Amino acid sequence: MSTLPLDRLVPAYIQAFEPYTPSRPDHELRRLFGVDHLHRLNNNENALGPPPSARQAIEDFEAGRVPIYPSGDCYDLRQALAAKFGKSADQFLVGNGSCEVIASVIKAFCERGDNIVTADKTFAVYEWVAEFSGFQVRLTPLRDMAFDPQAMLDAADERTKIFFVCNPNNPTGTYWDAATMRGFLEAVGGERIVVLDEAYFEYVDREDNPDGMELMREFPNLVVFRTFSKMYALAGLRVGYLCGSPEVVDIIRRTHVVYSVNSLGQIAATAALEHDVPFITATRTMVAEAKELLRGECAKLGLEYVCHEGNFMMIRTPVSDTLLHRKLAHKGILVRTMTGFRFPGWIRVSLVQRPVMEEFCRALEEVVRG
Ligand SMILES: *Cc1c(COP(=O)(O)O)cnc(C)c1O
Repeated sequence: MSTLPLDRLVPAYIQAFEPYTPSRPDHELRRLFGVDHLHRLNNNENALGPPPSARQAIEDFEAGRVPIYPSGDCYDLRQALAAKFGKSADQFLVGNGSCEVIASVIKAFCERGDNIVTADKTFAVYEWVAEFSGFQVRLTPLRDMAFDPQAMLDAADERTKIFFVCNPNNPTGTYWDAATMRGFLEAVGGERIVVLDEAYFEYVDREDNPDGMELMREFPNLVVFRTFSKMYALAGLRVGYLCGSPEVVDIIRRTHVVYSVNSLGQIAATAALEHDVPFITATRTMVAEAKELLRGECAKLGLEYVCHEGNFMMIRTPVSDTLLHRKLAHKGILVRTMTGFRFPGWIRVSLVQRPVMEEFCRALEEVVRG
């Protein structure tokens, strides 16, 4: 029997917090589901793999570099980002995935009694970090599957420090057009931090999609998140970053762990930015074709779906999402159940190459009709 006085040692908000259970490694899942291959359509990874420049940098990486600490503040990568976006290197803060910079922003601005505002059905890490840090989270319902700017403004009070907006939203793919974004930023009025999570920015090919990197020139309270995990296919190396006005980033940097980004990740991410246009175009084409194919399939099967921007779409399942997940896994296909996103009865499917999408369609058909 434990004699640790956990009731006294552990803050109430930690006692109440339910830990996230990551999925098992693929080899375990293959054994569990009795399949010899698994197509990963559950994490919005870019199935094309990293761009050629990053691939080369990874192959050239020598084991002799491993005993040496990486650059503590991702010096070269920040220089490359500064050149790419026409900003100063001091405006960038790189983390072990953008998940790490979420925590850095919350730590920098929130203290006891403060709250953050975001949507109820979005990327859950904003909510989780705030909760296990002891801050109140105010969730506003989506409206027509999209973030509702007025509801977010209405939810704020004098203790609101940060608004988190995921644009386009994971998992619905909806986005605020430039006018809506500008209207929201003007209504917030610079008194609070607005985080714009643009994890899927490079997937969006629309004229009216707002670009946080440009908007921050006018709105110094705007902090933009981007990642190398999604378009650039470096999820396994964990590199994400934020960009903001120099005075805001100077504050956030104080709470940010140095040396959290490994050498290989820094090198691969820096290389990935070189000549990225053909790679991004090829990925967008793959995703557009997959969208068309799956839309047709859903129509054929009479399934409701939500498909906008990003390399994923949501499909309403005729059976429970966990059951569908299991049945598809037995056919070698992993999808994301949406119950944890507060969308019970839906799955999210990553959009990848045509042959895999066709395999998914066949499996879905068998499950739905069988
Ligand atoms: C995947 C994802 C991220 C985080 O990715 P990292 O791998 O931690 O960089 C952040 N936001 C959204 C909306 C995502 O979907």
